[in-house]
Amino acid sequence: MVTGRAGYQSDGMRVIHRSGFPMTDEIIIETRGLTKEFNGFVAVGGVDLQVRRGHIHALIGPNGAGKTTFFNLLTKFLVPTRGKIFFEGIDITSASPAELARRGIVRSFQMSAVFPHMTVLDNVRVGLQRTLGTSFHFWKPVSSLRILDSNAMELLESVDLASFAQRVAVELPYGRKRALEIATTLAMDPQLMLLDEPTQGMSHEDVGRITALIRKVAQNRTVLMVEHNMSVVSTIADRITVLQRGQVIADGSYADVSKDPLVMEAYMGSADSEFASTHSSTH
Ligand code: ADP
Ligand code: MG
Repeated sequence: MVTGRAGYQSDGMRVIHRSGFPMTDEIIIETRGLTKEFNGFVAVGGVDLQVRRGHIHALIGPNGAGKTTFFNLLTKFLVPTRGKIFFEGIDITSASPAELARRGIVRSFQMSAVFPHMTVLDNVRVGLQRTLGTSFHFWKPVSSLRILDSNAMELLESVDLASFAQRVAVELPYGRKRALEIATTLAMDPQLMLLDEPTQGMSHEDVGRITALIRKVAQNRTVLMVEHNMSVVSTIADRITVLQRGQVIADGSYADVSKDPLVMEAYMGSADSEFASTHSSTH
């Protein structure tokens, strides 16, 4: 039984939205006491995290904080030792990856969802076809394939890749590959997109482009991203959760967490010293 969520009522299995309208304070995904131990070592220790629908939520923290482990728990790459995960109020702790995809939770892989030797357009067509339930549509009239093509081009335009449509994926510049990866994820029309360091290894120009792209695709969906680049986080994140040694040490807006003494201390002397340096240079 799910209780206590504003705007929701529960009939035990399904959670029904009373107004039938998304609310700004509606929680789309939540973890309670989520824990992962590796042979007794606590990589993620009792994390309570709430992500609001429509938000870009960033998960940050120094190296070894447990970000990747947490991400892998959410996306079912790892099984939690303890704790629970709820999506739209429903316990999905034991759900299969296929069930997550059905519910609209999609992880953007670092190029693993992209066929390197296919064209950009064909990659997106495959992604769109996959969401139709089967990859074979021999019996479908030509008109439906045209619709598929126009949808694919529309999607490519939305990620600024239309001029690369006929290029082979492997030949794309790095930042464009990441844009294609986001396009193939978008083809699945996710409600919640999970991005693991989308700007990692990018040039300054590509970082700007991907940041703008994430903001654009987040207009009608929720994004939870692990991100190292503090300027990206400060630009697009509606809310930030800071992990350190597997625990949440701060949660709030960039303005709030960046002046939190625990956060400044956590980043002090670490490789990701953005917070520490930002603040030491202003004092
Ligand atoms: P982050 O992504 O924040 O840098 P990780 O989630 O990768 O941190 O790692 C958190 C801690 O858990 C680290 O100390 C790491 O060494 C440890 N860890 C991660 N995966 C494993 C594993 N499969 N086995 C043992 N320890 C692990
Ligand atoms: Mg990591």
